[in-house]
Amino acid sequence: MAQTWAMALHGGAGPVRSKTYEREEAHMRAVLEEGAAMLEGGAAALDVATAMVKALEACGFHIAGKGASPNADGVWELDAAIMDGATRKAGAVAALVGFESPVDVARAVMENTPHVLLAGAGAAAFADKQGLKRVEDAHAYYTPAASRAVKPGELAHGTVGAVIKDRAGRLAAATSTGGLLNKMPGRIGDTPLIGAGTWADTRCAVSCTGQGELFIRANVAADVTARILYARQSLHAAAAGALADMAALGGDGGLIAVGADGEVATPFVSEGMKRAIATASGVRDVRTFR
Ligand code: ASP
Repeated sequence: MAQTWAMALHGGAGPVRSKTYEREEAHMRAVLEEGAAMLEGGAAALDVATAMVKALEACGFHIAGKGASPNADGVWELDAAIMDGATRKAGAVAALVGFESPVDVARAVMENTPHVLLAGAGAAAFADKQGLKRVEDAHAYYTPAASRAVKPGELAHGTVGAVIKDRAGRLAAATSTGGLLNKMPGRIGDTPLIGAGTWADTRCAVSCTGQGELFIRANVAADVTARILYARQSLHAAAAGALADMAALGGDGGLIAVGADGEVATPFVSEGMKRAIATASGVRDVRTFR
């Protein structure tokens, strides 16, 4: 059934069966309702995507924003991206240090620079000039969601994302991540790479989560729209096919996608993926496992 508006959120594909995620699911349900109310009221997809990812960054329950993990040097280097499907404008930041909301900085890159992606010191200097909120004391601010669950030496990953179709039919996607716990300094994942971890056009909006290196090598987010355009696949078949191509390289993870008719796909090949769906026809679905 075509939906006047629809949305999906994710909180990463890192969940393991041995843990419960009630707190995360309760929070995601509340955030989902806020997004549904915004969309019901006619808000723009881009604004809802930004608001949703900001809320998921700020809660500290996922490996993004406040919950992000430090790299191997103990520095919090974060990645984020946002894309507007109607105009295909995009903004992204990579290895950003010192700001509460990387997605806010990504949106400012999109709206206030001629560029798509700013990294490292240049991204931070730009965010300062934009007056975006700094993290004053990193050790006091961050509550790494991963480190509690992970044994030393293990790589843990997580991300948050939102894909939105608004009442005007516009699509938007946003993704924000702390990447991998103990990643090498300077490592950049798929999240801020337009086409790899984040994508939106007039056919679909996609936000990925999982082992970023594999999502980059499979160019997963852009592969979803390519399958719809060239192979005439449905959103569901395209999302599953793009993910399977990544999984065939040996990676794990998942994605959320919304299509032009408001259909929603949330495939994953990992043990779980924290995710939520809301549609104009009243669907509200929040899950971590199958
Ligand atoms: N894709 C993210 C990265 O590699 C991590 C994740 O989604 O779990 O940076």
